[in-house]
Amino acid sequence: MSFELPKLPYDYTSLEPHIDARTMEIHHSKHHNAYVTNLNVAIAGTDADKLSIEDICKNISNYPMPVRNNGGGHYNHSLFWSILAVNDGALPTGKLMDAINAHLGGMDKFKEEFNKAATTRFGSGWAWLCVENGKLKVCSTPNQDNPLMDVSECKGTPILGLDVWEHAYYLNYQNRRPDYISAFWNVINWTQVSRRFEAANI
Ligand code: MN
Repeated sequence: MSFELPKLPYDYTSLEPHIDARTMEIHHSKHHNAYVTNLNVAIAGTDADKLSIEDICKNISNYPMPVRNNGGGHYNHSLFWSILAVNDGALPTGKLMDAINAHLGGMDKFKEEFNKAATTRFGSGWAWLCVENGKLKVCSTPNQDNPLMDVSECKGTPILGLDVWEHAYYLNYQNRRPDYISAFWNVINWTQVSRRFEAANI
């Protein structure tokens, strides 16, 4: 089995003006595609080619660095694309909103904590909202690591992630990572985040 680049459930233009079409096209068709290609090379002929990407991440300490970097890259970007859609200011609802209130002190505090995690991640990496033991938490990871990985300082099941590598925003935002982070809140598909939250809580 080999991994494949997932098709996006929307057009490259559909997140504009928050995330521009050229960035989306390069990010998906070049960057993510390279992670998939390099992951397939790295796992060819090993037992990892029978595993899900989630199971590879959970046991990532058993694999060499190219699997960690490219496997993480494939998992992280697949999650990222799935939770994006222009939301017109909509907020989370239902059990997810209840958990944001109960575990994170409400939407404003959650945004503040998430923005801080995304802004202060030095160099390249990701900010996450994840579920650990039934509770929500915010954290960040370097490079293409993620909270599923056994080597990660931040552990849990990710339900929302933001790519803060420069390739994710530089064409449109240049060095203004905080502007990109602010714009991200306009393109979170809360229905998909809720779906991941409820799946993680079972
Ligand atoms: Mn990326």
